[in-house]
Amino acid sequence: MLTIDRLTKTYASGDTALREVTFQIPQGQVVGLIGPSGAGKSTLIRCINRLVEPSAGTVRLGETDLVPLRGRELRRARRRIGMIFQEYALVERLTVMENVLSGRLGYVPFWRSFTRRFPGQDIENAYRLLDRVGLLAHADKRADALSGGQRQRVGIARALAQDPELLLVDEPTASLDPKTSRQIMRLITEVCAERGLPAIVNIHDVPLAQRYLDRLIGLKAGQVVFDDAPDRLDDMT
Ligand code: ADP
Ligand code: ADP
Repeated sequence: MLTIDRLTKTYASGDTALREVTFQIPQGQVVGLIGPSGAGKSTLIRCINRLVEPSAGTVRLGETDLVPLRGRELRRARRRIGMIFQEYALVERLTVMENVLSGRLGYVPFWRSFTRRFPGQDIENAYRLLDRVGLLAHADKRADALSGGQRQRVGIARALAQDPELLLVDEPTASLDPKTSRQIMRLITEVCAERGLPAIVNIHDVPLAQRYLDRLIGLKAGQVVFDDAPDRLDDMT
């Protein structure tokens, strides 16, 4: 469970990007984050994974408030958060399997053929994840040999390989065609439900979000202006 309470961010420039943002996400629920450019969506995601330091408020992941953490404790806490990116952020010259395993490390090792250095159970788990995302047959291909949809599937498997307690997903379908986008959204909601994993998906495509997600949070000028079932959105606008 993710609990965000009165989260506020004022940048050094004086811009207040978030004002007392408050919401909870229970296990297994995928929430779409929508709002116009400049609403504070990226700032919210970055305050949760602590690439940005919040000015006030709490971000609780399970029992841990992430806001006061520093140094080693912060790095450890960040490993509990899986990230999925618009442009996949794969290492192109590595294989699909190696990209997935790098999720367990949290970084990409410089040694060659690092697959062999992983415990057998990590390798087995990575194969299971590749099977789950439909890429088992591609495990030994280089990432740059894959289509966009396949790359995003690797991105999902990599995030899951770190066994996260929360997924943060930034515009996962922005570089994909409509059909592939639907497949990726379905996969994300399914794996979160299977694992009881809460997730936030920053998403521009509101119809796509309405189709696949049970709940949308709308931000405007740093404030939550909508938090409800997607079909209620029309009532508001
Ligand atoms: P969104 O992701 O919804 O487009 P952002 O979180 O990027 O919104 O931006 C929210 C507000 O915070 C905007 O007014 C933006 O100009 C400001 N902002 C974002 N990043 C920074 C930064 N690094 N320094 C100063 N202001 C920022
Ligand atoms: P997005 O498309 O994700 O909303 P933006 O174009 O808003 O991204 O921002 C791109 C980058 O510029 C981000 O790193 C953001 O933090 C930074 N940024 C946005 N607004 C400002 C600002 N007013 N001052 C400084 N940096 C900003």
